[in-house]
Amino acid sequence: MRDAITSLTSSAPTATGLLLQPDDPVCQQDLALDRYDEHFKPYAEEYLALPNRLPETILGWLDRYVEPARDHFGDALLLLSHFYMGGEIVKLVERYGGVVSDSYVLALQAQRNPTKTVIVESAVHFMAETVSILASPQQQVWITNPRAGCTMEMMAKDWMVMPAINQLIARYGDELATVAYMNTSGRLKAIAGRTGGAVCTSSNAHLVVQDVLDTADRVLFLPDEHLGRNTAAKLGIPDEHIVTLPHPSNMPADWTLGDVSGGLERLDAATLILWGGFCGVHTVFEVEQVTWWKDKGWDVHVHPESTREVVQAADGSGSTNYLWNVVSQAPQGAKLAIGTEGHFVQNAIERGRQRGVEVRHLADIPGTPAAGCGCATMSRNDPPHLAGMLDLLRRGEAPDINRVLPGDMIDDSTGLRTRLNQAEQDTLVRDATRALQRMVDITEAAS
Ligand code: SF4
Repeated sequence: MRDAITSLTSSAPTATGLLLQPDDPVCQQDLALDRYDEHFKPYAEEYLALPNRLPETILGWLDRYVEPARDHFGDALLLLSHFYMGGEIVKLVERYGGVVSDSYVLALQAQRNPTKTVIVESAVHFMAETVSILASPQQQVWITNPRAGCTMEMMAKDWMVMPAINQLIARYGDELATVAYMNTSGRLKAIAGRTGGAVCTSSNAHLVVQDVLDTADRVLFLPDEHLGRNTAAKLGIPDEHIVTLPHPSNMPADWTLGDVSGGLERLDAATLILWGGFCGVHTVFEVEQVTWWKDKGWDVHVHPESTREVVQAADGSGSTNYLWNVVSQAPQGAKLAIGTEGHFVQNAIERGRQRGVEVRHLADIPGTPAAGCGCATMSRNDPPHLAGMLDLLRRGEAPDINRVLPGDMIDDSTGLRTRLNQAEQDTLVRDATRALQRMVDITEAAS
């Protein structure tokens, strides 16, 4: 029996307020046919043959697959999507009664909705895996495209991190606790639980790190160096008490802790030990872009996966939900430049337009190369994958590779999966749940 995550008052999802506009073609880029696995190719062929990408065309086609599945599963079906999905997936998932939110709210949806036994997620794999960790044995979690990985999560696979963790534990023992950002596999979340640490998100990282530092002398923060640095700045942890470990690709096989810049002396003085991962989508932003918009009277808000310099130059920083609320609550006439994922900003521009608020992408500066890319891997979940997943599930023919269980690891280039045995899954669920519960407790206590 899995432990329930308790106290969920701040995790209620809200509707995005986005509308499907009949004349606005979908902004989702088509994938080439060879990017679909065999089961999904028939749906992709139909989709790619549609005459246009206008909502009424796509909806007519999608309804043929989604509505029978909704009739078949009734109230047992729950669709989930992240804010970073192309605008139309966000709108389509909401149109079919699903939940669109950030990774914190999504993670808790299985527990919040115990009667939903068929949960289908259109987002990256670690998000679906987190839902599966907190799901009951009666709830099945599926991802529309298992090859939708998060590149940041891929920079800190457990086999990359374990050699460093083992050395750190040998040196510091119980003095060391691990804080795993939500953008990690369940295997790393379990390590956080096992080492007296917790999971965190971009909105609560400062609360979680502070809480963990109340009971441990030092924190290993995985995997985002920039969120780690921004969190340290928020907590007033000085640079001389922060060490970044080299990424495994830059480490020789016989690497030891003594090889960190500054050596063991520096490491012993560190309160925060950072893994050197990053998000390619959020590290494109530069201080000059922030200054350009501010000089023109715009307010700038960025995601804390951006560099510390960018965050400190901006008017505000925070999670996806924070950025959405900035746009949703800004007074009429406000001008906002937002530094985060491109699809999200597209949605925010539309949300702002409804409210008389001008919104631009932070990198959208005339005369400079367009740098506002979206999260390419998240976008691997598209309308054909949604239609195919629901239709295959209804017919009882869903490929097992789309099923998500705790500890699953997918190679996003080969599509091959490594799955833990039942005993290993149970251990992972126990330890990762402990780390997730601690995050929820800390977050709820602060709100
Ligand atoms: S935007 Fe970056 S951190 Fe977020 S899911 Fe995509 S690759 Fe991962």
